[in-house]
Amino acid sequence: MNDTNSGSNRDAQAACSALPEDQGAPELDALLSELGADPGLPPRVFVEAVEQSPVAISITDPNARILYVNSLFELLTGYKKADVIGKNESVLSSRSTPVTVYQDLWRAIQDKRTWFGNLVNHRRNGQEYLAELMIAPVLGADQQIQYYLGMHRDVTEMHQLQQRLQFQHNLTEAALDSAPLAIAMLDSERRVLLDNHAYKVLLGDFQGAEPADLLLDALERELGFNLASACQSGKGFAQIEVRIDPPGGQPPRWFSCSGARVAELDEAAKNYFKSDGDGRCYLLLVTQEITASRNRAMEARLNLIRANIAEQRSVQSMREAILGAIFKLQVPLNLIRAALSLPGAEANPEHSHLLQVLSEALSTADDAVADLRSALPAPRQEESTEVNLVKLLDDVLRLSTPQLLASGIVVDWQPTHKLPDIEGQPNALRGLFKSLVDNAIQAIQESHQTQRLISIRSWVEDQDLLVELMDTGTGVASQDRLRLFEPFYCGWKDSREHSGMGLTVAQEVVLEHNGSLEIDPEFIGGCRICVRLPLPERPGATA
Ligand code: FAD
Repeated sequence: MNDTNSGSNRDAQAACSALPEDQGAPELDALLSELGADPGLPPRVFVEAVEQSPVAISITDPNARILYVNSLFELLTGYKKADVIGKNESVLSSRSTPVTVYQDLWRAIQDKRTWFGNLVNHRRNGQEYLAELMIAPVLGADQQIQYYLGMHRDVTEMHQLQQRLQFQHNLTEAALDSAPLAIAMLDSERRVLLDNHAYKVLLGDFQGAEPADLLLDALERELGFNLASACQSGKGFAQIEVRIDPPGGQPPRWFSCSGARVAELDEAAKNYFKSDGDGRCYLLLVTQEITASRNRAMEARLNLIRANIAEQRSVQSMREAILGAIFKLQVPLNLIRAALSLPGAEANPEHSHLLQVLSEALSTADDAVADLRSALPAPRQEESTEVNLVKLLDDVLRLSTPQLLASGIVVDWQPTHKLPDIEGQPNALRGLFKSLVDNAIQAIQESHQTQRLISIRSWVEDQDLLVELMDTGTGVASQDRLRLFEPFYCGWKDSREHSGMGLTVAQEVVLEHNGSLEIDPEFIGGCRICVRLPLPERPGATA
């Protein structure tokens, strides 16, 4: 059967080669017409098409004995037709292909299916190459396999490129994973396509909440950054610091983020000839945690504020103490002055000595008062600037955190993020709110209430900014409401470390800012204090 096949193949070749270009054998003409070919097509074209095909073609009998090979087969393998005709295709095998591959190949083709795959071949000169091979069974009229058609090409270079690509990929992945920065590649729908080890650690820290989502939300708040418009404009960003409040009430963390737009990989065949995408992009998000350095900077800042408030309080107490002493001295001095100016006192010789003593005492006391006045520390002058009250209250609560924690007090603070700035003296205002928070803590400690809560709200009303501070402490009795603001008044059971000047100074600060400070007389179950501070007039706003 093989000889017959091989013979008929040779006959067909010979017949075709022998034919004049424009004339076919009647048997071939009939075959071509059966295949639906144009009757004007010379049969030789079919042979030439196979012979000149740009892939290596071989035709074998059912045992893989080679009956025909085309020119490219000769060129690719280095074997001449005469070298391989009659030999098994295994002549090409370099013995590097696992036997299981051949078993799979034979199972497929004997099952009359087409087989695709790669084999390691060698050329006549022994040089190995990777062959991408397709073997298709050719069935006879009885549906039995008569021949096999093999088509293969050298894909060694492509394989080398793939290996290099894989190597580059492994290298990139290793570099990304060993980087201390969290890196993620996102598509325009915020889907994470690639990430590194540090990013995965963040994912664990955030209990499965996607870090990229949290970071992009924070960037949107801080910067107005929008992924879609960044893709459109192609603009990235560098070292933007954002705060993340991780889920589960963990303490806030800070990250420095940079992002670069990368044009989206467009694999769609229809876009092959398009030079540019439609604005879609990937975002390479690189982020580094800076919580520790941020906390150190914040601690240093708070220490500065703490020192400032302490100094502010000590100057104020000193001023009030000296002014109080002067005030107390003035009472007896005024009495002496009155005695000296009594009509007829000088006329009585018995009193002249006494008057002289009193007059000398008055003069010495006046000198002492003058000395006291000159020792009065100057009130602290502070420039007015724009003050962000949310940030300022945040500072105050941070300063009070140790006391709040030690006293088991919960703070409920709902800042309105978009509060307008006021015009004011930041240190004085910080001192004011610190006094109010300190008082609230003390009031709760002295009340022994089970509910230990300070709640702070801030909002804008008319042209004023209001801050309300409520506590669940002892509350203020109606008879004490005004006395609280008197200098040196101290109503605490435990008056240690209290000069009685806190509210006095607080009220002074509020008045200096043209505002008001009120204790709500109706409030039950603690104390509610409301601070009202005027907002700067907007240009063009009508009164
Ligand atoms: P073998 O021991 O001969 O075969 C390995 C395994 O293959 C056997 O254990 C058996 O399971 C299976 N097998 C082999 N021959 C048959 C068979 N006649 N019937 C059923 N199962 C069988 N091989 C290449 O290495 N490079 C090529 O480019 C290549 N091109 C081919 C093109 C065509 C059209 C065909 C039909 C086959 C081609 N082969 C090619 C396969 C080749 O014929 C050999 O099967 C293969 O090279 C393994 O031969 P071997 O002597 O190394 O091992």
